[in-house]
Amino acid sequence: MKILVINAGSSSLKYQLFNMENGSVLAKGNCERIGAGGTVTHKRDGLETYSAEVDLPTHEEALSLVLELLVSEKYGVISSIEEIDAVGHRIAHGGEKYKKSTLIDDEVIAYLETIVPINPLHGPPAIKGIKACKRLMSKTVQVGVFDTSFYSQMEDFRTIYAIPYEFYTEHKIRRYGFHGTSHRYVAAKAAEQLGKPLNELKIVTCHLGNGSSITAVDGGIAIDTSMGFTPQEGVPMGTRSGTIDPTVIPYIMKLKNLNASEVEDLINKQSGLLGVSGLSNDARNVSEAAKQGNPRAQLAIKMLANSIKKYIGSYIAEMNGIDVLVFTAGIGENDDEMRSMVCSNMDVFDIKIDEEINSNIPRGSGADITAKGARVKTLVIPTNEEYMIAQDTAKFC
Ligand code: AMP
Repeated sequence: MKILVINAGSSSLKYQLFNMENGSVLAKGNCERIGAGGTVTHKRDGLETYSAEVDLPTHEEALSLVLELLVSEKYGVISSIEEIDAVGHRIAHGGEKYKKSTLIDDEVIAYLETIVPINPLHGPPAIKGIKACKRLMSKTVQVGVFDTSFYSQMEDFRTIYAIPYEFYTEHKIRRYGFHGTSHRYVAAKAAEQLGKPLNELKIVTCHLGNGSSITAVDGGIAIDTSMGFTPQEGVPMGTRSGTIDPTVIPYIMKLKNLNASEVEDLINKQSGLLGVSGLSNDARNVSEAAKQGNPRAQLAIKMLANSIKKYIGSYIAEMNGIDVLVFTAGIGENDDEMRSMVCSNMDVFDIKIDEEINSNIPRGSGADITAKGARVKTLVIPTNEEYMIAQDTAKFC
């Protein structure tokens, strides 16, 4: 069985074609700058990467090019598009309706259109990707895999903001949570690696990348998570502030005479590691500068580590315990110093890591970094959201 996974962004379309017999990636790539020129990068095992500048006015043209590449004599991996059994779409927001991965029909598209006001960045490109697939692969099964659905069992006292209740009932302003596909994947992997049933484990999963979130997974169910109405809530990120006193926002608006979009840009694109360090949104650059003694870079790194630690502690309190702590994504998988800072002085929870193992993990491989004798297992697990999407999609074939 072959599954194509599509992740459509505002000006990009990422794809991976999986062979589900053995979980291998037959080909993958990315179309970028859609609507403003266009580039494509296409990789296939054992072959040189194909990259080119191409005119990609719309997502449909991008998908059309991807399909051409997948069947092309030189770069292709299948002989016809009919070999693709189903397409799995990464959809950031499923609103309150989609509590699990779903077969996409007109009703799903119509619902996604109704929630664009609460998902203005990711909603429209996801819908474009789906519509392009519907037109170009009209007979192929399409499945939506929602980042929010892992959080659909979160209880209302954890999702409702303490603002007048009508903002929830009338405008659906509540906490939704994001990155669910990644947290779901690493939580399941952790249980598998430890040889224990997922429903018997209390796990805190830390997805730390350019966007970061922490999730409490109790018995396989995500009971709380750090991101909220949007991916803005929670720990500081590459360019996002994470949680701040809400009053800071109107105060800055008045102070600098900014409108809503300008202040949104400030907390979304100019804050986080970039805003505090004044250097970069890239954790590698910021930690390098911190090592060289840059005080603002040191401050940014300490803030991030401390914020992660606070979420872990609060989730241990919410779950009344912890069995496994998982690190994943760009920073979680690769930044041994960040893991070390987060896990220091956590003896009270019986969390202790082996610094030697922690600092010698080959890139992309993951490891059990638990110190000898510590009860809580600390694991580094490379995430694989695309494979999770492919697995969910395969269930509909
Ligand atoms: P992601 O969003 O999962 O792709 O993660 C991107 C983030 O991971 C960026 O901030 C990178 O700087 C960070 N990252 C990747 N490799 C490393 C590394 N070796 N050390 C520190 N941060 C890293």
